[in-house]
Amino acid sequence: MLRSLIALLAVVAGLAAGPRSHPQRVASVSLGRPDHGALVGGVRFPAEGRTFFTWDPLLRRAPDRPWRRYGNDRLARIVFRVLREYSAAHPGAPRVGIGDLSLPHGGPFGPKHVSHQNGLDVDVYYPRLDRRERPPSRPGQIDRRLAQDLLNRFVRAGAVRIFVGPNTHLTGPLRVVQVLALHDNHMHVRIAKPARGLTIGRSLRGRWIVGYERGDPSAPVTLVVGVIHGSEPAGLAVVRRLRRMRLPEGVHLWLVPTVNPDGLAAGTRQNADGVDLNRNWPVGWVRNGRPWDGNYSGPRPLSEPENRAVRAFILRVKPALTIWYHQPLDEVYGSDPHVAALKRYARLTGLRYRRLTAPPGAATLWERRRFPRGIHFVVEFPAGRLSAATARRHADAVLALARGLPAASLSSLSSGWRPREGAPRRPSQP
Ligand SMILES: [Zn+2]
Ligand SMILES: [Zn+2]
Repeated sequence: MLRSLIALLAVVAGLAAGPRSHPQRVASVSLGRPDHGALVGGVRFPAEGRTFFTWDPLLRRAPDRPWRRYGNDRLARIVFRVLREYSAAHPGAPRVGIGDLSLPHGGPFGPKHVSHQNGLDVDVYYPRLDRRERPPSRPGQIDRRLAQDLLNRFVRAGAVRIFVGPNTHLTGPLRVVQVLALHDNHMHVRIAKPARGLTIGRSLRGRWIVGYERGDPSAPVTLVVGVIHGSEPAGLAVVRRLRRMRLPEGVHLWLVPTVNPDGLAAGTRQNADGVDLNRNWPVGWVRNGRPWDGNYSGPRPLSEPENRAVRAFILRVKPALTIWYHQPLDEVYGSDPHVAALKRYARLTGLRYRRLTAPPGAATLWERRRFPRGIHFVVEFPAGRLSAATARRHADAVLALARGLPAASLSSLSSGWRPREGAPRRPSQP
């Protein structure tokens, strides 16, 4: 089972690494458990950098051999960030020693490691009082102040487990930091398995459009789209928060950071064809403008690959509630028959509510036709970036509405359309 899954994912990862996909990151996939698992699409951690060196625990020398330095790309990003912030806070501190991560494809690592099998583990050597770039050979050589600070930073970065040696006297939250023998010269840091995305489709320039599913799969679907107009990215902060926060029971989320990755990368309202994706849906479509005009509706309804992919996705997941984020009008808008829900969202977030019919070819209009009993509306943030407090308030409002959805069967929410295929295509859980 694990093996066939790995083969399948290897194909997916191979496609994803194709030349057309460039700026979009290819997510690594960590399978199974840290002590019985595999790694697909892992990244190789560099031999050394401004803030770190790597160390081979068997050969006892720097750098660590390349095949011992593979990990989930998320682990690599977290380590880079922690090291960057740590070295900025301690400009005089020596570089941090990074030990083994995982093998290129994960699996049993061999001597010294029970875990390190799926790209989520990394060994980090404690800084030494004498500032030498090698592991401490006894606990007395550890710079405890720096080591504790480094550990704290990994905790804040979201480590789910950190093993420290019994003689290090390092501390941290009990649910994360645990004492384990043989860890007196390094801490072992483990991060959570990242949520796996479903590939919804590709943009004109070959970037992936990705969706993330969370929560109770038997509850009605709440779909949140962070960005459709690439120059209006504020909703990303809400989606990011929804991807991480603890969910109440009875909530089923599909989170799509952007349906317009080309526009987002270029900072343009339109996609790479110059089409306004929110005027291109096949409902009340009208010919409007020319390429790169503000509201250019495209040569025909659904002319754009992004919208065709998202349409197929929406028909599969059948949202009972959809929220599309925009900027900069600073209001919640939509029309009957769900005024109460819209007003509630507005009240919870402090935005004003305006009754306004969506323009021809808008995504919400199309959804309302397909899923008339659902709630589909637009939230316009003001211009500029969202504060953390605002993003949190909006994420909370999404969950409040999602919890209140009637637990009616999904089919009753749709207008009778049935997908030809079954469930959304996505890798199954290992
Ligand atoms: Zn370890
Ligand atoms: Zn917009």
